[in-house]
Amino acid sequence: MNSKPSAQQVNQNYDVVIIGAGPSGSVAASLLVADGLSVLILEKQHFPRFSIGESLLPQCMEFLKEAGLEQALDRYAEEYGFQFKNGAAFHKQGKNSAFDFTEKFSAGRGTTYQVKRAIFDKLLADETEKKQVEIRYGHQVDSVLTLQPEVCLEVSDDDGSAYKVRAKFLLDGSGFGRVLPKLLKLELPSEFPVRHSYFSHFKDGIDCPEFDRDKILITVNPNFSDVWYWLIPFSDGSASVGVVGLPERFDASLAPIDTLMNFINQDPNLQRLMKNATPIGEARSIKGYSADVTKLWGDNFALLGNAGEFLDPVFSSGVTIAMKSASLAAPLVKRQLQGNSVDWESEYAKPLKFGVDTFRCFVEAWYDESFQNVVYHDQHDDAVRRMISSILAGYAWDEKNPYVEKSVRRLSVLAEICQPS
Ligand SMILES: Cc1cc2nc3c(=O)[nH]c(=O)nc-3n(C[C@H](O)[C@H](O)[C@H](O)COP(=O)(O)OP(=O)(O)OC[C@H]3O[C@@H](n4cnc5c(N)ncnc54)[C@H](O)[C@@H]3O)c2cc1C
Repeated sequence: MNSKPSAQQVNQNYDVVIIGAGPSGSVAASLLVADGLSVLILEKQHFPRFSIGESLLPQCMEFLKEAGLEQALDRYAEEYGFQFKNGAAFHKQGKNSAFDFTEKFSAGRGTTYQVKRAIFDKLLADETEKKQVEIRYGHQVDSVLTLQPEVCLEVSDDDGSAYKVRAKFLLDGSGFGRVLPKLLKLELPSEFPVRHSYFSHFKDGIDCPEFDRDKILITVNPNFSDVWYWLIPFSDGSASVGVVGLPERFDASLAPIDTLMNFINQDPNLQRLMKNATPIGEARSIKGYSADVTKLWGDNFALLGNAGEFLDPVFSSGVTIAMKSASLAAPLVKRQLQGNSVDWESEYAKPLKFGVDTFRCFVEAWYDESFQNVVYHDQHDDAVRRMISSILAGYAWDEKNPYVEKSVRRLSVLAEICQPS
């Protein structure tokens, strides 16, 4: 629905306004409207629109279930096809390894999907709209006029008409748009170095019988262990392929597709898999995506998903963290609007960061190679393997898992054992 607000809408007050109709926005809105709150989502683009972040983790499905969105997703997957996903496969210099997410330590679903985000995000947003959440596409939040005693935003639509919207609470699910961090000067550089990514969709034409379309394939570049690729197969015979690395690894004068193809051809296994592949649409590049903030909440607002911290794409944790933030924030918003006090630091920021820090530990260990050694080590104890599999499946908040509870210590001990001789 591309509705232009009428005069009544312009004067309307909402309980909650959400910036952005990505996964964090749709999950938060679905949870809030189920609690009887009036919710408006302002989305600057028109859906379907491209977004990166196509490999989900099984933990996502738990958040979608909570928000009443899981069934619609499963139904769509069955009728039209989202690629079933049950794990992650890894390749480095001729060595293969794979984790099956159904063989994991934590309770909860062990499978999920690989999705074209244009379709997935629209599906979630449409389901959210059916729950009586109002979504205004082509409406961009330009400024925050007040946050106290009420939220007042300045919004402009596609025609350039500006108007004001008022609410009791504001959730920023604007992703890489990072609306509130920019407007309220909350931006903090990430502790991760700037990395660049080049990616495209391909009609993949993969005809290798051993290739498992049910898993994302992560490949480490044979020359630089900090450069890695994703290959995310979709159900229609296409795939998303991308390469990630430090800026100095890439020739900035080349077109993104040439950079991507050059790197694909550096790895014999990937080159073999992609020998029949033809690009679909244009190749793209995203640079310096890791980001942080000074705080995740303030007077009458909280930051969701990528509008808060974004670590790194290597373990496909972005959508899971975005949905977890929505799942944590929604009940707190409800409580606050009922007049109860909420300690946003201890009830939102801290628990969210707990799981983000689990992923952080694994991402750091990926780039210093110690987790790569764990992945390609072939003699894992079965129990340990299940614990690692759980985290790769997104269950990074499950404190019962020793690799979550004491991730840094446990992982460094394991890495020591798995060091190549
Ligand atoms: C190279 C790369 C690969 C990745 N791969 C994966 C992966 O495989 N799996 C995974 O889970 N994650 C992955 N991610 C991360 C993933 O893309 C994000 O974590 C996820 O999309 C975040 O969801 P979100 O709801 O926070 O924001 P988004 O999905 O980005 O949605 C934000 C929405 O806000 C809207 N918006 C922005 N500004 C405004 C404004 N001013 N007014 C109104 N609307 C606005 C945007 O149009 C957008 O629709 C990857 C990231 C990168 C960089």
